[in-house]
Amino acid sequence: MNSENEFRLTVDSKSVNEGFTRVVVSAFVTPLDPTLEELADLKTAVSEAVTNCIVHGYKDRFGKIYISGKIVNNTVKIVIRDKGCGIEDVEKAMAPLFTTGEGDRAGLGFTVMESFCDKVTVRSKPNVGTAVTLKKKISGKAKW
Ligand code: ATP
Ligand code: MG
Repeated sequence: MNSENEFRLTVDSKSVNEGFTRVVVSAFVTPLDPTLEELADLKTAVSEAVTNCIVHGYKDRFGKIYISGKIVNNTVKIVIRDKGCGIEDVEKAMAPLFTTGEGDRAGLGFTVMESFCDKVTVRSKPNVGTAVTLKKKISGKAKW
């Protein structure tokens, strides 16, 4: 497939929408004929980014999560954005094992996103919000 496609989606920062977002992203990339591994990797990376919006961005409140996707040729780009608390030091936050979570967090979300995608970009501003961009090339050689 060699055509462009885009979607936009806004969901509430509720954990039930983590699964919903995974399904939407799966359906969106299906025309590229991803392998099961590519699909699983992308879904996991999206889950990590959405979970971060819910548990960190909107820590003690609910807000909206803005997700957009774009396919150009065989590359998919997914942007996951919140208008939450933002990140003071992005480089530090992305380091493996860094967490501001309370005990139950491993500090590995960004590490997972980076290992499962070709490129991860984070833009963030304290008290404004955070945008995570995931880029992944899909081989288009599905073996179902
Ligand atoms: P894990 O993902 O392993 O459960 P974690 O969420 O703490 O743990 P990362 O996903 O790597 O680990 O995120 C690292 C840190 O970056 C978080 O602890 C948090 O401080 C900050 N962070 C990540 N995403 C956001 C966000 N959307 N808004 C505000 N802070 C964020
Ligand atoms: Mg995380």
